[in-house]
Amino acid sequence: MTANSYNPMNPNEDLLPLPSKPRLLVVDDQAANIQVLYQILSNDYQVLMATSGAQALALCASKQPDLVLLDLVMPEMDGYQVCQRLKADSIMRDIPVIFITAQTDESAEEKGLDLGAVDFISKPINPRIVRARIKTHLMLKAQSDLLRSWAYLDGLTGVHNRRFFDERVNAEMGRAIRNQTALSLVMLDVDFFKRFNDHYGHQAGDDCLRRVAKTLKTSLMRSGDNIARYGGEEFVCLLPDTGFAGAMQLAETIRKDVASLQIEHAASSVAPFVTVSLGVGCKPEKAHGNANSLINLADTQLYKAKEHGRHRIFGAELLVDI
Ligand code: GH3
Ligand code: MG
Ligand code: MG
Repeated sequence: MTANSYNPMNPNEDLLPLPSKPRLLVVDDQAANIQVLYQILSNDYQVLMATSGAQALALCASKQPDLVLLDLVMPEMDGYQVCQRLKADSIMRDIPVIFITAQTDESAEEKGLDLGAVDFISKPINPRIVRARIKTHLMLKAQSDLLRSWAYLDGLTGVHNRRFFDERVNAEMGRAIRNQTALSLVMLDVDFFKRFNDHYGHQAGDDCLRRVAKTLKTSLMRSGDNIARYGGEEFVCLLPDTGFAGAMQLAETIRKDVASLQIEHAASSVAPFVTVSLGVGCKPEKAHGNANSLINLADTQLYKAKEHGRHRIFGAELLVDI
């Protein structure tokens, strides 16, 4: 996966500028074999190297290569086992694996492909064939990454969609509990939006939602990746490693930023411009809970903000269980 391609399942990944070259991982227990591939590929690719299965898995986890060239026969952990482990991991399973091996029997190839490898190249290698196949598989990978990213985007506003959020909130909650870190959720809803549509028309309503979403992205510089459209005129911002005070502060920034767009809203009872109400839920470092409890908490707080007059923020923390 290129560093600026999008992996919805990897919460650590940031959107970065395109690296100059795609990144390949060459795995072979014989350093001489790695050397041969390095010479063929290093002009066009960044080449990472591993001489054991364990090292290969560690590099895949930390560096997310775009493709792995994997030797089949290695001591301790063979290529089949490495491939199996990669394919069982929700983050690494999309990295294409090409086996490179001196074994020529069909059953070895069949087994490799069954385990999820995309191709099988036999040694001694033909440099032009290796280059051509790598190029093809990198292109296919880039295309499928792009399609996957579209499946997680909201068509109207360009921020993530509900499907993305549902998956991410569970992953982040699991991580926050494992690492005993805080996790906050800001839920916001446009005030009197039905009246806005009725007064200015649905098209203007759509424009308004786009502008609100765009503002959220700028308000949340640090974790802009974690904004999603939760429903019609409702958005959520998931904030890993953010405690209650930080989340409340961010909610206030959002509240002010949306107001300062000064989108006229003559039918609102709160202000002559578009406003939002916000609910903040926070899982403190030591607390447990699950994704649903956090969502319900933020939702209840949002409801309170509406009840108490809109254009305001309410927040609460999950209880720390002793
Ligand atoms: P409140 O302040 O209590 O949130 O009132 P509200 O009018 O914003 O809430 P309500 O749930 O009654 O109405 C939400 C409106 O949002 C109704 C629906 O037509 C509108 N809406 C939902 N999705 C879209 C959309 O994609 N585009 C437009 N233009 N309007 C939408
Ligand atoms: Mg509303
Ligand atoms: Mg609503």
